Amino acid sequence: MSFVSEVGSMTTLNFLEECKKLGKKGKVALIEAGKEGERCGASSNGLADQEYCAKMEKEVPITAQYLLDHGVKLNHHDEKNVLLEFNTNQHFVFPEGGGHAIVNALFDHIRTFDGANIMWETQAEHLLTEDNGTVCGVQVRKSDGLLTKVRSKKVMLACGGFEGNREMLGKYVGPRTEHLELIAPGLKYNTGFGLKMGLEVGAAVAGSMSGMHCELVDTRATKPDAVIWGHNYGIVVNKNCKRFYDEGKRHITDKTIMDRFRPGWVYDTTDKEPEQSDTIEGLAEKLGLDPKELKKTVDEFNAAININEFDLMKLDGKRTTGYS
Ligand SMILES: Cc1cc2nc3c(=O)[nH]c(=O)nc-3n(C[C@H](O)[C@H](O)[C@H](O)COP(=O)(O)OP(=O)(O)OC[C@H]3O[C@@H](n4cnc5c(N)ncnc54)[C@H](O)[C@@H]3O)c2cc1C
Repeated sequence: MSFVSEVGSMTTLNFLEECKKLGKKGKVALIEAGKEGERCGASSNGLADQEYCAKMEKEVPITAQYLLDHGVKLNHHDEKNVLLEFNTNQHFVFPEGGGHAIVNALFDHIRTFDGANIMWETQAEHLLTEDNGTVCGVQVRKSDGLLTKVRSKKVMLACGGFEGNREMLGKYVGPRTEHLELIAPGLKYNTGFGLKMGLEVGAAVAGSMSGMHCELVDTRATKPDAVIWGHNYGIVVNKNCKRFYDEGKRHITDKTIMDRFRPGWVYDTTDKEPEQSDTIEGLAEKLGLDPKELKKTVDEFNAAININEFDLMKLDGKRTTGYS
């Protein structure tokens, strides 16, 4: 038995272990566009496939147990009133070392099987098919740019989305999304080939084509996923010093809340200290913004806030009026 898969480390390992259990010689080619050691590799407006979601809900605990059984350590964190939008007494679980640690742990196991051929820096581009349409392998492009065929009885596609394909971003998500930076460098390998390969042989589409999960990222940081979470007891402006969204709508965190989680909590995701200044104009200078414009935006915002008492631990009704 043999099959080809993109990174799908969990699928690969599952297959190899199942073959071992059945006493069969399993052979697998694991084709990965990224380099070895590199960290490679988010809503639907009601368009999500409910059957798929229900299956995922059922299988998440099984998957988490599978990871634990393979040496992945999970950190548990209980927090009352973590974010005011969530219920209190939340229980959070996240992998020690992040997603990279999961991939590393699974690959350590995969390497113990003789039947596993890991093909790094190899991009799968097309599915190979027999005349009757049966999939019989995959055409890949190696780092030297040349194409080669990997034949197999089964192919599992696990190539992520199209975050790394500017053309597809512009086409499906909307104008100017092609200028967005990647939240993590490894996403550049998610070129949408997995989706295109399936579509080429007649796969159906499901879910939202134009949805996107974006985060505010600290562009000064060099680490991946340097998300800035605390932006609610304040305002966010663009390079023209203009606010561009309702900061009160989602995550409600600030330094006080973030400090409660340190060290080791997921909210601690940038490695840079914030810029500070005693004056708005001074802060603008440090950030490369127009001091007068920033002061104007802040003054207008402050003038629109009511006189309610500020209470960090509950939705206190302190808000702007007549100001969007
Ligand atoms: C910064 C960040 C934070 C996230 N946080 C969360 C979270 O908290 N909770 C949550 O549920 N989800 C989160 N997600 C989303 C989650 O990581 C993804 O939904 C999930 O990883 C998708 O899994 P996948 O196996 O489909 O693809 P991926 O994990 O993206 O893996 C695809 C792999 O295939 C490789 N590849 C792509 N194309 C090819 C090709 N043509 N040939 C060969 N190899 C190829 C890529 O290099 C990559 O290794 C987050 C994502 C990011 C980027």
